[in-house]
Amino acid sequence: MSLLSGFLFSFLIAAFAYQKRSLSKSGAVAAIVVGTNVYAFGSLFWYGLLLTFFISSSALSRLKKQKKDVVAKDLFEKTGQRDVMQVLANGGLGTLFVWFAAASMDTLPWMVAYVGVIAAVNADTWGTELGVLSRGKPRHILTGRLVEKGTSGGISVWGTLGTALGGLWIGLFASLFQLILAENGWQLFWLWIGLLSGLLGALIDSVLGATVQLMYGCSICGGETERCEHCGAKTRRIRGVGGCNNDAVNLLSSAAGGLIAWLCWRVIGF
Ligand SMILES: [Zn+2]
Repeated sequence: MSLLSGFLFSFLIAAFAYQKRSLSKSGAVAAIVVGTNVYAFGSLFWYGLLLTFFISSSALSRLKKQKKDVVAKDLFEKTGQRDVMQVLANGGLGTLFVWFAAASMDTLPWMVAYVGVIAAVNADTWGTELGVLSRGKPRHILTGRLVEKGTSGGISVWGTLGTALGGLWIGLFASLFQLILAENGWQLFWLWIGLLSGLLGALIDSVLGATVQLMYGCSICGGETERCEHCGAKTRRIRGVGGCNNDAVNLLSSAAGGLIAWLCWRVIGF
């Protein structure tokens, strides 16, 4: 029964997002699979947080879209429409955790890790969306040099503020859903989990983006890009580890977010 309603509900949301061009066709199918599982095997807490991430990130992506499209088209391998790999990079671990929680006697550790994962991906999206809007150029996270907007590993004040807010946003809704489900005093804890795993997860995302992520150089305009083609010509690899594209980096940093949340919980407790 919950499988069916989870499917129907997720189908409606994915269809709407596809129609609004937030998801590609393959991305919509993946979102239905992730959504159905989280709905069927989780609770309001799990599904609500997934929706909180999806709705807020899609809405931010549409903010000043035209201005951002100019930057995004040049630099990023993929633009606004999320495809299957992006959806799985953002929601794959969360789906695994909801399965583990459903199969386990103690769901709390998995809920904590789940909040960390969702906070990290939400923080990363908010940081990217808000960072692109900042006026000045970002600085490279390792060298401190000014780099072009949108460059992997570049950080800015607005971007970092965005990651903090994105993480806090998830923590805020986690405490809200927790409060609705069971009355106890965990609210402040979820805010800390959201903030720390969001900030640190996005920081790790930037470090990985500056080191192991594949980057290509354009021989025509001399620019750096995540794309295999630029200015109508094939680009050449200038750094990064084979297979380590933006999706792989996102998956790794979301895993880091889950681990950070779990560590915070072990160390600080409730
Ligand atoms: Zn070029």
